[in-house]
Amino acid sequence: MHAEVVRRSPAEPEFHQAAREVLETLAPVLAARPELADAALVERLCEPERQILFRVPWQDDAGAVRVNRGFRVEFNSALGPYKGGLRFHPSVNLGIVKFLGFEQIFKNALTGLGIGGGKGGSDFDPRGRSDAEVMRFCQSFMTELYRHIGDRTDVPAGDIGVGGREIGYMFGQYRRITNRWEAGVLTGKGPGWGGSAGRTEATGYGNVLFAAEMLRRRGEDLPGQQAVVSGSGNVAIYTIEKLHALGARALTVSDSGGYVRDEKGIDLELLKQVKEVERGRVQDYAQRRGSSAVFVPGGSVWEVPGDLALPSATQNELDVVDALNLIRGGVKAVSEGANMPTTPQAVRTFQDAGVAFGPGKAANAGGVAVSALEMRQNSGREAWPQDRVEAELATVMRDIHDTCYETAERYGVPGDYVAGANIAGFERVADAMLAQGLV
Ligand code: NDP
Repeated sequence: MHAEVVRRSPAEPEFHQAAREVLETLAPVLAARPELADAALVERLCEPERQILFRVPWQDDAGAVRVNRGFRVEFNSALGPYKGGLRFHPSVNLGIVKFLGFEQIFKNALTGLGIGGGKGGSDFDPRGRSDAEVMRFCQSFMTELYRHIGDRTDVPAGDIGVGGREIGYMFGQYRRITNRWEAGVLTGKGPGWGGSAGRTEATGYGNVLFAAEMLRRRGEDLPGQQAVVSGSGNVAIYTIEKLHALGARALTVSDSGGYVRDEKGIDLELLKQVKEVERGRVQDYAQRRGSSAVFVPGGSVWEVPGDLALPSATQNELDVVDALNLIRGGVKAVSEGANMPTTPQAVRTFQDAGVAFGPGKAANAGGVAVSALEMRQNSGREAWPQDRVEAELATVMRDIHDTCYETAERYGVPGDYVAGANIAGFERVADAMLAQGLV
């Protein structure tokens, strides 16, 4: 089947990698349930229901005309409207959007909520762009995207390069074009205009809760653990916030320029000031932090030893050399805040060394889970308080952990969260598709 994926979609290496990682783990469930194999469910799942590519013209501050490409891959809607973020980054292409959309199907199924899988974005690079340029880009992007989305059809959210500011500009344009106050068309909105309390924090918080559950199964707990965190965006910041709240300590942050190691633990207030207010770099954090922090230009953050590793930047950022470094440093658990940050060989290296490994489609599902709660609040015109959202997030993350763990046991691969997540997500989507006829 994997050869067929490669044949039909050549030059999409990230999609091939994501598909291979899932397909390799499905053998036990296909053997136990031949009706799923007979109905070609794997083959159907590997083909998106719909793929949309479009031109995004916009004008920069100097008046020059720019052209980017927009993407939305509506991968699977058996469980609910397509749901998944938009990424704005120069590396975005169809293969990357398809890998993210494919992962999203299983992740969304694991939440137990009624959401299908999709993903989108653009090769637009927001770095160094003014607010006005970002707004014009977002408005142009939505001028095409609006016709494909809707609260019962497809509900985008943020991802790399798309946060509250961009969601705001896109929601404003959607409203102007459609003349509808359709809050549930996008998630990640501001709390004053249809957003959910706790959505900004949800992915990072959820990943720490997942890591804590993995530790608990090994007879350990989070307080006192030292964590190596990569990235310095939304996921990394709220990962660090939750680690500190639960008594652990984050030692590092990174971006594409290098990493910072802070012996006293990351100063979250300073990090938020540099990243969220000033839109600066981790190097600026190190300069302002004083002697406890060192900036290592171009280095790999995984050189730093820790009890936990929480990759929270981007795909394939942790390879087998990094894995061996972390194992030498005594790492006990790796939990993926980013999507597919660990290369397949590195995953196997961790698993062979007995390190608990939580794959992104389970460990970072807290973000999309709270997005689904945002949709629920929007359809009831409600606004839940933060503590209610956080309590629901904690329940969802525990349930996802237990589902992965128990599914792995049931199918004879105990402790393998990768197989557990893939099989449990697959079964839920496959059963829905089977019941719905030839879809
Ligand atoms: P942000 O844009 O807020 O932050 C991304 C961070 O990763 C930045 O520090 C960025 O550094 C770094 N980064 C991105 N690309 C690269 C690269 N090629 N090399 C090195 N560093 C890089 O994004 P998020 O925090 O929202 O997303 C991070 C990851 O988490 C992604 O994999 C995303 O798909 C995943 N995720 C996000 C969710 C969410 O709710 N936001 C939900 C589930 C998963 P720089 O500024 O130098 O580019």
